[in-house]
Amino acid sequence: MIRVNENFLNLKDNYLFTEIAKRTNHFKEMNPDANIIKLGIGDVTLPLPSCVIDAMHSAVDDLSNKDSFKGYGPEIGYDFLREKISKWDYKKNSIMIDKDEIFISDGIASDIGNFGDLLSENISVGIANPVYPEYLDVSLMSGRVNIVYIPFSAENNFTPSLPTRNIDLIYICMPNNPTGTALTKTELKRWVDYAIKEKSLILFDNAYEKYIEEDDIPHSIYEIDGAKKVAIEFRSYSKNAGFTGVRCGYTVVPREVCAYDLSDKEIKLNSLWNRRQCTKFNGASYISQKGAEALYTEKGQKQISESINYYKYNCKIMRESLIQAGYETYGGVNSPYVWFKVPIGYTSWEYFDLLLNKVNVVTTPGSGFGTEGEGYIRLSAFGTHESTIEAMERIKNFVKKI
Ligand code: PLP
Repeated sequence: MIRVNENFLNLKDNYLFTEIAKRTNHFKEMNPDANIIKLGIGDVTLPLPSCVIDAMHSAVDDLSNKDSFKGYGPEIGYDFLREKISKWDYKKNSIMIDKDEIFISDGIASDIGNFGDLLSENISVGIANPVYPEYLDVSLMSGRVNIVYIPFSAENNFTPSLPTRNIDLIYICMPNNPTGTALTKTELKRWVDYAIKEKSLILFDNAYEKYIEEDDIPHSIYEIDGAKKVAIEFRSYSKNAGFTGVRCGYTVVPREVCAYDLSDKEIKLNSLWNRRQCTKFNGASYISQKGAEALYTEKGQKQISESINYYKYNCKIMRESLIQAGYETYGGVNSPYVWFKVPIGYTSWEYFDLLLNKVNVVTTPGSGFGTEGEGYIRLSAFGTHESTIEAMERIKNFVKKI
């Protein structure tokens, strides 16, 4: 008899965004004329930069010609892109990451979920609370139930104390989705030092690196001494160049980083990840890698900045409006997310429903990101200027009336 993987039965039924869609659709059916503004889901809305479009068109032409046609590519990515990443994202910032430490992928979600393949099931896992829900789900799917939640909340100024017990695997999302806050270099160093001492591994999700604007926030975990021994960094072009549909990203697995076998011998993860990817992954498409390569030019970097500035303007509007309306507000400076506390007496979902019903604005309830998110709402900056301004006017007027 075929048996199910019981680990999947430990997952919660309702995925956050499915529930938001369900409630929004129900409201729409009941109020077909309502002008709903969505500041909930974290998908980008601006089209791809023109340099990416041109490069992808030209890549399609390559595939149409028998001399430049490409079939299966290298599973870990084409050298043309790995070399550009090494130079532009690391060496230009004085971080020595070589092309052989860079693995191209179809984005962070797959890689951060799959990386657990290399690690024992019997490890303790530290997960920030609140945080992007994938880390908990992939841990449960792979049978890792020894979870330690690390509160990243307003109560500890989003800088938790180090755990007093050993944690083997630590997920850090920085700048953090959903709170929009980030650890400074000094604070991140404490976690790297902890991982070195405990022989732990940090999976560092750097999806929002391009949104960082404050000087003391690190752009890469490898800015911290010793991090190459204990950290894997995940990045993608999703949130900075509109690749959420195109799909391309990369994972850095430094040569030094290791885990340990049962006799405590160091096992290098770079070669294990290479082996894993070459077996289970066929590589990101040639077309998407060519599109990503085009971002590593002066023109490409300028076009990335233009989209980031567009979304950051929305953040500024949201942050200032919420503060004016009297909400306790966080984030939105180094990240495309603004996080605010709902008035006393409401849960996150109750306030989500209230905003949907009274001002027709869809938000994301903080409790969907972990228990410490209860009592908060996340707003995303990925809307248009017009809809963001309109949503904020509605919220300010609503607050004035109550
Ligand atoms: N990591 C974080 C923190 C995210 O918020 C998201 C998407 O919202 C992802 C990863 C997914 O990134 P990708 O599109 O590269 O898979």
